[in-house]
Amino acid sequence: MAIEVLDPIVANQIAAGEVVNRPASVVKELLENAVDAAATRVQLVVRDAGKALIQVSDNGCGMSREDAKKCFLPHATSKIRTSDDLSRLQTMGFRGEALSSIAAIAQVELKTKRAEDETGTRVVIEGGIVREVSDAVCQEGTTISVKNIFYNTPARRNFLKSDQIETNHISEEFTRVAIANASTAFTLIVNDKAVHRLTSGNLKKRLVELFGNSLSQRLLPVSEEVDLVSISGFVASAESARRNKSSQYFFVNGRYMRNPYFANAVERAYENLIPEKTYPAFFLFLTLPPENIDVNIHPTKTEVKFLDERIIYSVLHAAVKKSIGQYRLAGELDFSKRTIEFPVVTSSTPLPTPPRVNFDPSFNPFDTPKTDAAFTEAGAYVQHTLFESERSSSACVMPKEEGAKTDSRIVESRSSDSQEETLGEKAQTEKAFMQIANKYIAVRSKDCILLIDQHRASKQIVFEHILSGESLQSVSQRMLMAQKHFFSPTVSFQLVEFLPVLKRYGIEMEYDKEDGSFLLHSKPVRQTADECFEFAQRMIEEGVERMQESDSENLRAETLAEKYAVRSGEVLSTAEMQTLVSQLFCLRNCVRTFGGEKIILKLTRDDLDKLFEG
Ligand code: ADP
Ligand code: MG
Repeated sequence: MAIEVLDPIVANQIAAGEVVNRPASVVKELLENAVDAAATRVQLVVRDAGKALIQVSDNGCGMSREDAKKCFLPHATSKIRTSDDLSRLQTMGFRGEALSSIAAIAQVELKTKRAEDETGTRVVIEGGIVREVSDAVCQEGTTISVKNIFYNTPARRNFLKSDQIETNHISEEFTRVAIANASTAFTLIVNDKAVHRLTSGNLKKRLVELFGNSLSQRLLPVSEEVDLVSISGFVASAESARRNKSSQYFFVNGRYMRNPYFANAVERAYENLIPEKTYPAFFLFLTLPPENIDVNIHPTKTEVKFLDERIIYSVLHAAVKKSIGQYRLAGELDFSKRTIEFPVVTSSTPLPTPPRVNFDPSFNPFDTPKTDAAFTEAGAYVQHTLFESERSSSACVMPKEEGAKTDSRIVESRSSDSQEETLGEKAQTEKAFMQIANKYIAVRSKDCILLIDQHRASKQIVFEHILSGESLQSVSQRMLMAQKHFFSPTVSFQLVEFLPVLKRYGIEMEYDKEDGSFLLHSKPVRQTADECFEFAQRMIEEGVERMQESDSENLRAETLAEKYAVRSGEVLSTAEMQTLVSQLFCLRNCVRTFGGEKIILKLTRDDLDKLFEG
């Protein structure tokens, strides 16, 4: 096979893949360039998750006409001159690769002007080919618009994930650069909506703007300087540990890095202070001589190697431990009240505890069971005999929809003239249900006894309800007083659209346009409000779509089922037992749980006879 030298344009397209693999990588490169140009104000505009448009405008130093033409050439950089510079600058990602890569796979327009120039320059470049260089009327600084990313490499374009996921990545890159440069003002506009307007300030203020008050009130400063490295920033107090690692940020010499090894040093400082499988949030800056950083890193990777890793590990560990110890009780914010615009209800604000609702308000015994539900013979029988008399009693037949709203404590909702009859029935029902050892429910049936494991039954009910997309009303209760919560603007912005999904998990929230908060109206009985907020946050962070992939949905349903289910040891009222049993017999699988555990035992007369033999 003859060897051919690749057409430089094709070669560049291939190389571009190293730097640009999704819209978020363009965002990262453009934002960093703006910061490198000493901009004090930077605006990012994104349309259609960056697939249609990514535009970064800055008020930085701008470029001369010559530089504006040159900057798209491969290896064009104003930041490295000699190979000495190389070791000093490579950690900052200066390779002169970004703009040439971006121009290779998109339609790019650059407008730029330096302070000393009369007119600015406009360069249009598409798929690596310069289309136009002309005068431009523009302000001092640079605006780069990247349109139709991967328009000439459809295979790559097809690899892009949903808008939701790509937008999450963009938002994350924005957040990283914004944290690393707190004195620069940043704006993020997604599909014409302003998601962030971050004003210039210190790190703490920046964190408040990005993550909301509740986290930032619990930030502990970290500051340590040794010969090898200096460490500064904040760690979150133990109480605000979260169930995921999404708020863990390291920056090395001003750039974001991922470093699980160092993260472990921080996490270990919290040992015995936070529950297992929860993680502290942190925002830590390491500054060290570039010679001590391994420069041999991949352009898109955010991992960095250090020469003295173990020493840095212990310095970091000690520094964080010291902060936790010193500042645990300190809490006052150190900047003007200006950014706190709204009263915030945090988990520590005392709120009246809502009374426990002991009865499922949506339960309607007159509902005909789903036709596809597989009934066991005995189950069907129980269902039938228990509720038969009620079905025929006209006094209590309510329209189905109304039934859910009305107080459905069947007995109490009856009209007075049927009171006596009702009481009789009630007594009968009570006899039919019996709780044994606060663990099993015994149900008397025609000539058998059904024994039901209350925890397993409830678990299977929750599990099937989640999977079938029914809202978890059976475990959800309305709160006496709605609880208010502020999510970070990025999360809020996406959450609004996913409130219906949350409802399926028994969490009913409402967005308050006035102040941008969310009001929690209903929540699963066994979940705290904080857990609901955390769940919502995780849903957005993990990407709603991934959550709905069938594998993880099953897993989630299993976890939630364990969590929400009635526990063994819990005392149940007759009404609760009745609800549970009735729901159980409407399930697809009411005999065994999703994990294969037995839910029901049937003791027939024969079984009893056998037990009494001998
Ligand atoms: P690098 O950042 O590694 O130097 P890039 O491809 O990102 O490489 O940018 C190439 C060059 O273009 C930079 O070195 C800089 O001189 C110039 N440049 C890019 N973006 C801007 C900007 N926003 N303002 C001023 N100059 C810029
Ligand atoms: Mg760059």
